Amino acid sequence: MLELRDVSFSYGGAKVLFDVSLSVGAAEAVCLLGMNGAGKTTLLSLVSGLARPASGAILLDGAPLPPRPAGIVAAGVVQVPEGRRVFTQLSVRENLEMGAYLRLKKGGRAERAAVADDLARMLDLFPVLGERIGQPAGNLSGGEQQMLAMGRALMARPRLLLLDEPSLGLAPKVTAAIFRVVRDLPSIGCSVLLVEQNALGALAICNRGYIITSGQIRFSGTSADILSDELLREAFLGPV
Ligand code: ATP
Repeated sequence: MLELRDVSFSYGGAKVLFDVSLSVGAAEAVCLLGMNGAGKTTLLSLVSGLARPASGAILLDGAPLPPRPAGIVAAGVVQVPEGRRVFTQLSVRENLEMGAYLRLKKGGRAERAAVADDLARMLDLFPVLGERIGQPAGNLSGGEQQMLAMGRALMARPRLLLLDEPSLGLAPKVTAAIFRVVRDLPSIGCSVLLVEQNALGALAICNRGYIITSGQIRFSGTSADILSDELLREAFLGPV
């Protein structure tokens, strides 16, 4: 459903992505792995429309990606940004409802009922959010805010979820809870493009992966291919 063809990007004069080609299929979870500064966040911002490629093409279902971020969200591509960025003054419930803003704006009574069902589903996925539903999001722990940011994104019913380092700074147990939800998204029709430094964790829940260094894709393959390649493991995944 998503395809990047020979995409390049520069910040001012500094080129940071070089002819990147990458795809994410329907109901597929794909990870993008690489060190700090490799260009992962930049690549996601091109897909969510925060920046435009200098050259190359980004296609959604074979057609050019809509030009503006709002159009991209409306087309079903939603990003959970790095560092969470929940609305700290708003309650957990209000944050979740914000995720369904476009649906509520367009839809009638049936859509409002569907949004209420989805809200209940988010509380099943992340029970801790149910316990804190009326509290300001700013009172939540880092892990809870990450869950809220994911829940908010899922309230838009995305077809493709872009995740930027969801495990950053979180305790292993919280990371495991978040990764379990990510793993199950393709089975409910939501594809995933997951950027992670936790390579082993990401490969365990994704079908395929790409390895990017200094703005270039160096390797792509199934998670099993990447895990079984000794050189790749040593160079990119670190000691196991
Ligand atoms: P990290 O995990 O540290 O976020 P990353 O793989 O996501 O790393 P990017 O954040 O995409 O990497 O950065 C890619 C390159 O672009 C880096 O060299 C970075 O310094 C540079 N860069 C990122 N944002 C900007 C910006 N706004 N202006 C100029 N250079 C930038």
